[in-house]
Amino acid sequence: MTPIKLAIVVPCYNEEAVLPLSAKELLAILDRLVEDGKIMPDSFILCCDDGSKDATWSVINRLHLTDNRIKGIALAHNRGHQNALLAGLMSVRGKCDAAVSIDADLQDDPNAIIEMVDKFLEGKEIIYGVREKRDSDTWFKRTTARSFYRFQQLMGVNAIADHADFRLMSSRAIELLADYSESNLYLRGIVPMIGLDNAIVTYDRHARAAGESKYPLSKMLSFSIDGITSFSAKPMRMVFFTGFALLIIDILVAIYVIASILFSDHLEAGWASLIISIWFLGSLILMAIGIVGEYIGKIFIEVKQRPRYAIRDILFD
Ligand code: UDP
Ligand code: MG
Repeated sequence: MTPIKLAIVVPCYNEEAVLPLSAKELLAILDRLVEDGKIMPDSFILCCDDGSKDATWSVINRLHLTDNRIKGIALAHNRGHQNALLAGLMSVRGKCDAAVSIDADLQDDPNAIIEMVDKFLEGKEIIYGVREKRDSDTWFKRTTARSFYRFQQLMGVNAIADHADFRLMSSRAIELLADYSESNLYLRGIVPMIGLDNAIVTYDRHARAAGESKYPLSKMLSFSIDGITSFSAKPMRMVFFTGFALLIIDILVAIYVIASILFSDHLEAGWASLIISIWFLGSLILMAIGIVGEYIGKIFIEVKQRPRYAIRDILFD
């Protein structure tokens, strides 16, 4: 077994409080993996400062001086977790055999990295960290997160349940990720689209060691809407089917109205034509919106210019 060069990518936004603790823990993991002969001694940690307003960048600089396995990049301004993570992954592109992405607060158990590396050495290329228990999260966070995953699946986004952005990707997977040029980035949806051999590693989620969450409900909501709308045109299709269902109901109503005309001796004048046309027009309008939506959905997918396939190996000459 030849040791690999591992990179750990850590997006950091206002993480001055927790970063020194996290760096220490992650370095210990690297040490352990080096001792076991699984990774090379020049494996490193890349902290990606997402335009923090606190002293995060000077903390990263200080950490770099004490141990140069800690590297850093700083974004010019706050671009959000997903962009910070992508910036980190693209910076380690070509500089490592595999990269693990993990949040700065280490709520995701860093010990799972060891298992991820094992799976990578067995030949897996994308290894998803999946939370088994979330006892440390508040009931509110747990429930909203769960319903989010469920809703997402319902809306046709093919993401791994209870997996956030804690994962290992091989250098090949990172190369393939680089082909996704869309700017509305939702990594949890894109990474499963890459394909390649994958595996899951489960762990328990801890409470934040220090500092506070940068994901209030408002951010979580807009994140989930982004996630769904950048992956599926299903909501538009639902509009069409609602219109279609209304049309069926309309036909039933029409049958009822005609039966009333035939068999009832008392009928309000104008009622029948009014009620039928309201339902009929309503359903037509909804269906028309749905059809327009389908086309907009297609345009939406086209403009993203996503790669249509990903090549894993080439055997040519
Ligand atoms: N983060 C970031 N940019 C942002 C918000 C968050 O890089 O605009 C980072 C943050 O530093 C952390 C990770 O994204 O490493 C996840 O954030 P957080 O732990 O606050 O989210 P939660 O675990 O509460 O969902
Ligand atoms: Mg967190």
